[in-house]
Amino acid sequence: MKGVQAFNEIEDLDAESKYLVHKAKEAALNAYAPYSKFYVGAAVILDDDTVITGANYENASYPLCMCAERVTLYSAAATHPSRKVKKMAVIAHKKGQKELVTATPCGACRQVMLEFEVKQKQPIEIVMLTKESNWIIVPSCSFLLPYSFNQENLI
Ligand SMILES: [Zn+2]
Repeated sequence: MKGVQAFNEIEDLDAESKYLVHKAKEAALNAYAPYSKFYVGAAVILDDDTVITGANYENASYPLCMCAERVTLYSAAATHPSRKVKKMAVIAHKKGQKELVTATPCGACRQVMLEFEVKQKQPIEIVMLTKESNWIIVPSCSFLLPYSFNQENLI
């Protein structure tokens, strides 16, 4: 498995990754984030090249807020249950601003992504923008969640 790849500019990403970032940007416009004003979009590509997108959805009862990554993964699984997720891009911007800000998946989303990887027996690449303004492609969620808890712990 490749290591983490870093790129200075979005133009340096491969075509598929750039397209997913584009779709994630589109999806972020559908975010419902009246409380945080933090608009997150995610896009995944499946093994049949279907692209599924999602955005964060907040709630006045704060713990019920749902991240864009999980909205997207659950939507993909619910609508294309026999397909595998190959890659995810996640982006974020503040309300009314075009400039992207860092959005790396939260711990809960990493846990969910990892379960998808275990279930589909295939890693999911993750494209995201780091604090250093570099785009990175992580080859598997296991890079983001070492020493994780998974179904093997329950046997
Ligand atoms: Zn999350």
